[in-house]
Amino acid sequence: MPDGRPPVFDMDYQQLHASAMDKDILQPDNAGSGVLPVNIGTPPWRSEKRVMLRYSGIIDPKDIDACIARANAYAGLDKALHAEASSLIEAITKAGIMDEAGAAGARLRTCREVSADEKYVIGVAFDGDPGALTSRALMLSNPHIVLEGLLINMCIAGARHGIICVDETDAGVMYLTVRALGQMSEYGLLGANVLGTDFSADIEIRAVKPSPVLAEESALVRYLQGWQALPYLHEAAAPLIYNDAPAVVFTAETLAEVAALFREDKLPADGVTGTQIITVHDGEKKYVVEVPRGILSGALLDDIEARAGNRETVKMYRLGGIGGGFFRGNKRDMPVDFRGTAAGTAGGPGVMMIYRGDVAVPAVVKEAMDYLREQSCGQCVFCREGTMQISLILGEMLEKKADIEDIDLLEEIAGYMKIGCICRYGANAAEPVRSSLQEFRGEYEACLKNR
Ligand code: SF4
Repeated sequence: MPDGRPPVFDMDYQQLHASAMDKDILQPDNAGSGVLPVNIGTPPWRSEKRVMLRYSGIIDPKDIDACIARANAYAGLDKALHAEASSLIEAITKAGIMDEAGAAGARLRTCREVSADEKYVIGVAFDGDPGALTSRALMLSNPHIVLEGLLINMCIAGARHGIICVDETDAGVMYLTVRALGQMSEYGLLGANVLGTDFSADIEIRAVKPSPVLAEESALVRYLQGWQALPYLHEAAAPLIYNDAPAVVFTAETLAEVAALFREDKLPADGVTGTQIITVHDGEKKYVVEVPRGILSGALLDDIEARAGNRETVKMYRLGGIGGGFFRGNKRDMPVDFRGTAAGTAGGPGVMMIYRGDVAVPAVVKEAMDYLREQSCGQCVFCREGTMQISLILGEMLEKKADIEDIDLLEEIAGYMKIGCICRYGANAAEPVRSSLQEFRGEYEACLKNR
């Protein structure tokens, strides 16, 4: 690595930081160094296990030297460049690394096996869900772990081209990403013959306007080519097509998990590194925590209660973001993981919303459905009409104009949406209604006109 400081960029980081960082995520409990959206407060989160966010608040995210010296940055890439792709895919598969689009190892394998002159790996470094701060926390605290993961996946997939998609409104993430890529070029991590090998790599930044539908990988690939962001049906493990070339899309979290896996000197005995970053919303407070995959909701609720003070008890919580499922506050055995979707429990991104006191469940669900209705791309009937009809029925319920049959109708529509939508967004959009009817049916019945 060359000596000397990274190139100085035009923007003033401190000034930009002050203007770009959300004040509301810098709660005293979150403040730490005063700049990072992760918890460095007391009491500690007993449920936390930091792997991807291990160096958050410890290293300066704009200093590649610190990232290399203290966080072992690019050691994983170095390892990957000198290993067989098949063994890397095996390690990723064994570690169980996956995102909502499917298992990372399987998607890398199919992309690698396709014969093509050009291939792309696309990183989603924005949060599609309005409640999620996963990508933001990673990019603001340690962008090099995401970019290293992108390079490793490019190397495995046999792709020369990488794209990192960032929120066009997030000046802090944009600044750190531009700066990081400049440093990577200077340090021989981009361009021809990366770290003296025959691997060549370029990474392009694309600024996007985040939305839940854009987080669907097929919609993103279309959008990046200048078309409308419409998801389409595709085989989960098969590469998508970007600029007539095979492409595979990964979240920032998946990229960071891959980098963390190979940065370690040796794999854990069980092969599993799995952690997940969760954004917890408790009233005005927001917390970003990294917890073991498969952790149950009770462990997180214990931590949340430990810092709640005299606040009202938790009536219910929602897992999985805006299209997530609702559960009673005393239900403590729900997996806090999108893998819960397979078990019909919870889905979507790593978000946990806490509702306290006498919050009215149908009103909360109506608000979620209004948003989901607005965000639907509208190309399939079950999502377009389903979100609209559910929203209208809930509105009538809140005005006590609905009948008992309308509850059955809500269930029926939600059931059709689960099976009839062509992308995850539509299937998840049924979850707020389905889950809340299961847990809080009495509250819906109380809203009927003859009560
Ligand atoms: S399920 Fe909804 S968001 Fe997905 S393609 Fe269909 S209409 Fe669009």
